[in-house]
Amino acid sequence: MSLDWSSDHPTPAPVAPISEARIDRAGGRVSVDDKAMINCRADVNQLLPLKYKWAWDKYLAGCNNHWMPTEVSMQADIALWKSRDGLTEDERHTLKRNLGFFAASESLVANNIVLAIYRHLTNPECRQYLLRQAFEEAVHTHTFQYIVESLGLDEGELFNMYREVPSITDKAAWALDFTQHLDDPDFTTGTPETDRAFVRDLIAFYVIFEGMWFYTGFAQILSLGRRNKMVGIAEQYQYILRDESIHLNFGIDVINQIKAENPHVWTPEFQAEVREMIKKAAELEAAYGRDTMPRGFLGLNAALCEQYMHFIANRRCAQLGLHEVFGETENPFPWMSEAMDLKKEKNFFETRVIEYQNGGALSWD
Ligand code: MN
Ligand code: FE
Repeated sequence: MSLDWSSDHPTPAPVAPISEARIDRAGGRVSVDDKAMINCRADVNQLLPLKYKWAWDKYLAGCNNHWMPTEVSMQADIALWKSRDGLTEDERHTLKRNLGFFAASESLVANNIVLAIYRHLTNPECRQYLLRQAFEEAVHTHTFQYIVESLGLDEGELFNMYREVPSITDKAAWALDFTQHLDDPDFTTGTPETDRAFVRDLIAFYVIFEGMWFYTGFAQILSLGRRNKMVGIAEQYQYILRDESIHLNFGIDVINQIKAENPHVWTPEFQAEVREMIKKAAELEAAYGRDTMPRGFLGLNAALCEQYMHFIANRRCAQLGLHEVFGETENPFPWMSEAMDLKKEKNFFETRVIEYQNGGALSWD
C-alpha cells in the first residue's frame, strides 16, 4: 500500500495524539500521599516527590555498579578450556549446564520485567529501578554471548538447554507460567485475586528465580574460581551476583511494601501457598543439582548444593516474614558471603573510567 499525498481525499476527523489524549490537564500536582505501589491513579510520569526512597537508592546503587562483560579478560579461561587436562569432564559438564541455565534465564527474567511487572507496578521510582534492572539483565545476557564467543562453545546447544535439558526446562516452565498469566492484555490488578497473582509473579521471579536458583549457579562457578579455574567467568559471575543481590532486595522490598499497603493480599492461605512455592522451587533445584553434578568435584556436589538451597530458602522465608520451610539452616558455603562483598575498586574499573573520559571527548565533525 502506498501513501496518498493528494489533497482531495477526505480529511479524517482530528484525533489528539495518544500521549496527549491521556494527559490530565485539570489534575493537580502529585503529592507523596497519592503514590502507591499498585492500583495507583496518580500520574506515573511524576518521579518527584519521592515516596519510596529505597527504590531510588537501589537505582543509584545499580548505576554505581555499572560494568560490561567485555571488560573482563578471557585469556586464561580460553587457555584452560582448550587445554587437554586443565578441567575434568565433570567440571566441563557442570560449567556447560550452568552457562546453559543462565543464558536463557537472564532473558526470562528480562521479559518478565518488561511484559509482566512494569505495567502493573504503578510507581515511578520503582519503574525507574525496573528500567535500570532491565538493562542489567541485558548486560547479563550479553555476558553469555561473550563467553560463548570467547570459548568457541556451541551456541545452539547452550541457548537451547532451557528447552532440551529436562532439569533446566522444568525450572523455566515453572517460572514462565507466571509471566504468561500477567502478560495477557486483559489482565489487570485491582481485585484481591489479581493483586495476589501479581505478588505471586514477583515471588516467582525475584525471590525464587533470582533469589534462589541463581545462587546455586553462582556457587558452582565461584567454587571453580576459588581454585583458580575459569577466573574470567568467575569474575563476571561476581559482578552478576552483585547486581542480582540488589534485584533480590528490590523484589523483597516491593513485595513487603505491597503487603503493607494491601494487607488483604497476604492471607494465611496465600502465605501457605508461598511457602509451598519456595519448597517446590528447592526441590526443582535439587534435581538440577543432581543433573549438573552427577559426581561433583572438589568442594562441591549435589548434596551440598541441596543443603545450600535449604539454607537460602529459609533465609528468603524470613525476608518475607514467613516461617522457615526446612529444618537445617547451616550454610555449607560460607565463602559465598565473601564473594558478595565485592568492592568496586578493582583495577579494571580504574582503567575503564579513563576510557570513558576518552569517549566523552566527542567530535561532531
Ligand atoms: Mn540477571
Ligand atoms: Fe536479575
